[in-house]
Amino acid sequence: MSFDYDLFVIGAGSGGVRAARVAAGETGARVAIAEESRYGGTCVIRGCVPKKLMVFASTYGRVAEEAAAYGWDAKIENFNWTAFCSKLNLELDRLEGVYNRLLDGSGVDKFSQRATVRDAHTVLLADGTEKTAKHILVATGGRPVRPDLPGAELGMVSDDIFHMDSLPGNVLIVGGGYIGSEFACILNGMGVSVTQYYRGDQILRGFDNEARNLIAEEMRASGIDLQTGTDITGLERDGDQIVALRSDGAKARFDKVIFATGRRPNTDDMGFEEAGVTLKGNGAITVDEYSQTGVPSIYAIGDVTDRVQLTPVAIREGMAFVATVFRGEPTRPDHELIPTAIFTQPEMGTVGLSEEQAKSVAGEPVEIYATSFKPMQQSFAGGAAQKILMKLVVGKESRKVLGCHIVGPAAGEMIQMAGIAVKMGATKEDFDRTVAVHPTAAEEMVTMRTPVRTI
Ligand code: NDP
Repeated sequence: MSFDYDLFVIGAGSGGVRAARVAAGETGARVAIAEESRYGGTCVIRGCVPKKLMVFASTYGRVAEEAAAYGWDAKIENFNWTAFCSKLNLELDRLEGVYNRLLDGSGVDKFSQRATVRDAHTVLLADGTEKTAKHILVATGGRPVRPDLPGAELGMVSDDIFHMDSLPGNVLIVGGGYIGSEFACILNGMGVSVTQYYRGDQILRGFDNEARNLIAEEMRASGIDLQTGTDITGLERDGDQIVALRSDGAKARFDKVIFATGRRPNTDDMGFEEAGVTLKGNGAITVDEYSQTGVPSIYAIGDVTDRVQLTPVAIREGMAFVATVFRGEPTRPDHELIPTAIFTQPEMGTVGLSEEQAKSVAGEPVEIYATSFKPMQQSFAGGAAQKILMKLVVGKESRKVLGCHIVGPAAGEMIQMAGIAVKMGATKEDFDRTVAVHPTAAEEMVTMRTPVRTI
């Protein structure tokens, strides 16, 4: 049977674009891609990239005070949201252009419209045309969801933050995951009065307790009204304001409410179940370790599969798919020991097991090496310096570094490097015999001699 294409990719986010252009550009496959929104997807348009630029924007407010302590005659006053957004939008347009040019340069046919699956080899475009393909790759990502509460439509989600006309005077953020905690810090840094409610006992569930405790402590110290063990039962409008109905029966008023309560895979009305593709309870596509669905010609990668919701992982899954299907080299994407950063203020970088996870899965006693201190640059300036945490989780018998957790400036940059060592299976003694780079914060990573506890 002859097909219009060897590969039809649905969704032009980071994973889909990488798979499409590598399959077309490097294996000579005939490839098409469909995108109903903007090329670049969540990461480039409404996620990692604009968020990180907002993180940068939000940190300048503190610089003047510190610079003054170093002898500068510095003054920073008001933050201009409109000016920032104009520049941000130009940057996103530029990046979208780059994505488009990469696809064009690889000879990928683009369809800027919604595509759904008709059957194992057919894609239906919104304009009614059908395209056939030997393989279909679903990379439709996910979207933020509001909880099912009365008045939930009065709240915003993370996508809406990038489209605000102006900054609110105060805001409530509901949720204590990556997105809620990062935006609490960003908006706080931009001068918004931020309240954050988290239903559990500590934000950033799943990460190392000592690390998330420090982040929460520093977020509070920087002025965020972080309330744990607190949730809402609904929202009501009162004039220009939104009233949050708290689970303890109290009411609180805010200019804006942002739900950062998780994301849902984009699989609604896509024709998957009719085509035989199985979905999990949360709507994610079920795939095997090669990203293949139950329909052999249909694969899925990235957030739509709800494995690890991170851009570099989606890209790896896309590359493994191309190797498996178009190069004849069966390749499983590696989901072990993924380093990641949470761009809170202070920032966290982490790889491997938390202390709590190590206790239950390490299969050997575990040594904890940890140190906490004020960074040299801020400590010289005086005032309220955010503390740094450096922590290693080490197998007492294997000597392997099972986990590494860093909280502090540039933690994301540091964990990328530490991640290489941990991925290689480095032992504590490998860390120890590496000469310190002095004076840096990172040198603590190779100078912690005595465990603070053994568990
Ligand atoms: P998360 O799953 O990380 O966090 C969701 C938060 O909302 C949790 O605190 C959760 O509480 C809470 N929550 C869920 N449902 C409700 C509800 N009905 N009422 C009140 N609270 C609720 O999702 P995010 O949207 O923050 O992030 C999604 C994913 O995106 C992350 O897992 C991450 O992989 C990725 N991401 C990565 C970033 C990075 O690399 N820096 C940045 C942003 C996102 P509970 O803990 O009790 O379940």
